[in-house]
Amino acid sequence: MAMNERLIHEFKSAIRNIPDFPRKGIMFKDLTTLFRNRVLLGTLIEVLYDYYRDLGITRVVGIESRGFIAGSALAVKLGAGFVPIRKPGKLPAGSYRKEYSLEYGSDAVEIHKDALDDGDIVLLHDDLLATGGTSRAALDLIRLFPVKKIYINFIVELKFLNGRQLFTSPEDIYSVISYEA
Ligand code: AMP
Repeated sequence: MAMNERLIHEFKSAIRNIPDFPRKGIMFKDLTTLFRNRVLLGTLIEVLYDYYRDLGITRVVGIESRGFIAGSALAVKLGAGFVPIRKPGKLPAGSYRKEYSLEYGSDAVEIHKDALDDGDIVLLHDDLLATGGTSRAALDLIRLFPVKKIYINFIVELKFLNGRQLFTSPEDIYSVISYEA
């Protein structure tokens, strides 16, 4: 299924906007109201499946925790494996860590050292691209492995935050829904 104006409108109507969460000045895009709708959840996975079905994806890498939801459903549909990228200290086995800076302070993400194989074709997935710090750090982790190709997907992109500029191959990024302001 391909995206069209009607679907964009339906998805946007199903996303709940929460002002000043988790702190003042942030308009939080709550996707739980989209995920709870069985028709829209199915449609979203169909849209993503159609976009990536012929690219030979072998592993979907989802970012904790909202990237696990559609990421794992999509992995099943694509016949790919699923790999989690998690916040520090959560993964049980040997992991690589990448720190990145936030507006205030820093954070980090981790991936298991044996999570990806040589020649994997990877789809990095998260629910939302904001400033891009998190997904850029996740991409840096994936690049530690000799994978063949990395595609990047978000359900929502907040264009006005220019997160895309942190990526050297923006043509490999696909966002289902974008907000210009
Ligand atoms: P960033 O590193 O700024 O791109 O932010 C990435 C993470 O924070 C994503 O995993 C999002 O789930 C979450 N996030 C940031 N801003 C928002 C927002 N306005 N609404 C919902 N989630 C957000």
